[in-house]
Amino acid sequence: MGDDHVSVRGVPTGLFIGGSWRSSTSGATFAVRDPSTGDVLAEVADATPEDGITALDAAVAAQQEWAATAPRQRSDVLRRAFDLVRAHEDDLAALMTLEMGKPLAEARGEVVYGGEFLRWFSEEAVRIGGDYRTNPEGTGRAIVLKRPVGPVYAITPWNFPLAMATRKIGPALAAGCTVVVKPAELTPLTTLFLVELFRRAGLPDGVLNVVPSLDAKGLSEPIIADRRLRKLTFTGSTPVGSALLKQAADNVLKTSMELGGNAPLLVFDDADLDAAVDAAMLAKFRNVGEACTAANRFFVQEGIADAFVAALTAKVDALRIGRGTEDGTTMGPLIDDRAVDKAAGLVDDAVARGARLITGGQRVERPGSYFAPTVLDEVQPGSEILTTEIFGPVVSITRFATEDEGIRLANDTEFGLIAYAFTTDFPRGQRLAERLETGMLGLNTGVVSNAAFPFGGVKSSGLGREGSHEGIEEYLETVYVLTPDP
Ligand code: NAD
Repeated sequence: MGDDHVSVRGVPTGLFIGGSWRSSTSGATFAVRDPSTGDVLAEVADATPEDGITALDAAVAAQQEWAATAPRQRSDVLRRAFDLVRAHEDDLAALMTLEMGKPLAEARGEVVYGGEFLRWFSEEAVRIGGDYRTNPEGTGRAIVLKRPVGPVYAITPWNFPLAMATRKIGPALAAGCTVVVKPAELTPLTTLFLVELFRRAGLPDGVLNVVPSLDAKGLSEPIIADRRLRKLTFTGSTPVGSALLKQAADNVLKTSMELGGNAPLLVFDDADLDAAVDAAMLAKFRNVGEACTAANRFFVQEGIADAFVAALTAKVDALRIGRGTEDGTTMGPLIDDRAVDKAAGLVDDAVARGARLITGGQRVERPGSYFAPTVLDEVQPGSEILTTEIFGPVVSITRFATEDEGIRLANDTEFGLIAYAFTTDFPRGQRLAERLETGMLGLNTGVVSNAAFPFGGVKSSGLGREGSHEGIEEYLETVYVLTPDP
C-alpha cells in the first residue's frame, strides 16, 4: 500500500498484532460487502480464538512500557494520528461509505467527528490529575493518584465504523492503556485503515492490535476470561452488552457499556416549527436512522401535530435515495436485508394496530438493501415500534395532550440514552432536563455528539461515559496513598 493513497484494494486486510500485519492462524478470511449493491469489497483475515489471545499477549507485553511513557509522548502520537485521519479524510470517508452505505457527506462528517476524539484525548493525556489531601482528623496526608487500568479489549459496532473506534482507542491510549480492538464483522475495513494510520503515527508495537472475526463470541470469550485483561469496553446492542457483563462478572472486570437506545423526541405546541422539523430530520434520518441516538418515538403535542406532520412529511418525501457514493444522495441503503425486513415488520405491526401510514412503508425495489423513508402517525400503545430500536428510516408519531403526559410517555421505556425536546419555554426545558430519564438531552437541537462532552446512557442504555474529561476516567484507576502527618 502506498503511504499517501488508499483504495479498498489498498486497505490492509490482515490482523494487526504486535506491530505487524499477519494472516489468521487458520488461514480463513471473510467477505466484506457493499450494502448498496451486495458486491464483495474485500476478504478480511478471520481471527481465531488463538489469534485473539496472541493479540492480548502483545497488549500485555507492551502495557508496562506504554504506561511509563511521558504523557506528552502519548499525546504526540495521538495528535499525529489525528492529523493523519484528517489528511486521509477522503479515503476514510469513501471506505465507510463503501462498507456501511452512508452518504459520502455524512461519512466525511464522521471522519471529522471521529477524528476529534484523537485530538481531544491527545489534549487530555497531559492533564491526568491527582490530589493531595489532609485527613479530617488532621493527622495524615493522602496522595491520590491515577494510573492506567491496563490492557483493554474494545468491541465496536458497524454503524459508525470510525467514531466508535476512536471514542475508545483515543482515551485508552491517552491514559496509558494498550488495546485489542475487535471491529464489527460488517465494517472492519475502516478500523483496519485507522490502525494502519496509528502505525504510521509511530505508535509502539503491541500498543494497539486489531482482530476482525466472524465469530465474535468465540473470539471474545477467552479474551474476557483471561485475568490479564483489565477492561472491557463495548458499543453495541443491549442483549450482547448484557451477555458480556455476565462474562465480565467472573473476573470482576471493569467495563464500559454503550448500548441501545429508544430515544423520545418531544415537540411541544410552543416549539419553533421549522427549526423542530429540521432538527427532527437530522435526529431521525442521519445515518439512515441506524444510530443509537436516532429519534425512535416522536411525541407531538396536539396543538402543533397536524402542522408538524405535514412539514415533516414534505421533507421526508424530498429525501433522495441512492448509493452513498452518488452525488445528491441524502439517504443510503440499510446495512443488510435483515434490517429492511425488520423495518417492514415494525411498520406492518403498527399499521395493523391502527397507525396511519402517511408516506413510505415498504422496501425500495432496486439492488441493495433500501427501505423507503416512512412516516406513521397516531401510532397506538402496544405497537412493537414503541419498544423496539427501529434502526431504520421510520418516523413513529404519537400525539399527546399535556407536559406530564409527554414526559410519562417519553420515560416509558427500558432505555435512556438520549432524548430530544422542542420548546421555546425555557422553564419547561429545565423541567424536562430534570425529569426525562436520559443520559443526554438535545434541547432544540437534533445532534448532540461532541468529543468534548460526556456521551452515554442510563437504564439499559449502558454504563460509563465516552468523550469529555470523564471519558479518560474510564481507563484510569484511582490509588490512594496515606502518609502520617509530616
Ligand atoms: P451488536 O451488539 O450486534 O454488535 C456489536 C459488536 O459486538 C460487533 O462487533 C459484534 O461482532 C460484537 N458481538 C456480537 N455478539 C457478540 C458476543 N456474543 N460476544 C462478543 N462480541 C459480540 O450491535 P450492532 O448491530 O453492531 O450495533 C447496533 C447496536 O449498537 C444498536 O443497538 C445501537 O443502539 C448500539 N449502539 C450504541 C451506541 C452507544 O454509544 N450507546 C453507539 C452505536 C451503536
